Amino acid sequence: MDNIRENIAKINEKKPDNVLLVAVTKTRTAEEINRAIDCGITDIGENKVQEILEKYEYVKPVRWHMIGHLQTNKVKYIIDKVSLIHSVDSLKLAKEINKRAANKGLTMDILIQVNVAEEDSKYGIKVEETEPLIKEILNNFEHIRVRGLMTIAPFEENPENVRKYFRQLKSLFDSLATIKHERLDFKYLSMGMTNDYEVAIEEGSNLIRIGTAIFGERNY
Ligand SMILES: *Cc1c(COP(=O)(O)O)cnc(C)c1O
Repeated sequence: MDNIRENIAKINEKKPDNVLLVAVTKTRTAEEINRAIDCGITDIGENKVQEILEKYEYVKPVRWHMIGHLQTNKVKYIIDKVSLIHSVDSLKLAKEINKRAANKGLTMDILIQVNVAEEDSKYGIKVEETEPLIKEILNNFEHIRVRGLMTIAPFEENPENVRKYFRQLKSLFDSLATIKHERLDFKYLSMGMTNDYEVAIEEGSNLIRIGTAIFGERNY
């Protein structure tokens, strides 16, 4: 079971240094996560609030990323635990993040989740909705900083089939990065998972979210 070190090394060989590797730790124990941290992982991603709360005190110091759908009533539990929320896809959610961040006296970094392929099964907003949502957030919420975009591509055996979605998001990222605002500081283009991260990097990703290729298949 201890291929974690080798797996991380393999991924690091395939990615440039400027691409941040976020280890996706859903379903993994704190012990497994700590092993990954011992192998150099600095950032971990969870998709459920419950799992963050269960593991938080047992995991060594690391940056936590909320990468899954976030319900407004759960924002309060993680606001001071995560360093980046990847999955903001509504004004309602942004409003709650702003309120909870204000209560804690902090400014929360967020990404907007875009459902580039417009799959019914996935969260995220449409490409054309992205700029209006960002402008609403910037105009209304002083405790949020908009740091970039995230997408989950459709699953395809052949990752070449999703290259077009990554390219589309990169182009949107570049155009929105030119918005001048003190709370817009585009840094992260979060795209690419185990099956498609090499294509995502070729298309401009600088943050990949990898679970299976580090820890092996998940048993739910
Ligand atoms: C599970 C998950 C990942 C990682 O998936 P793998 O295919 O195991 O690398 C990435 N992003 C999100 C949002 C996830 O839920």
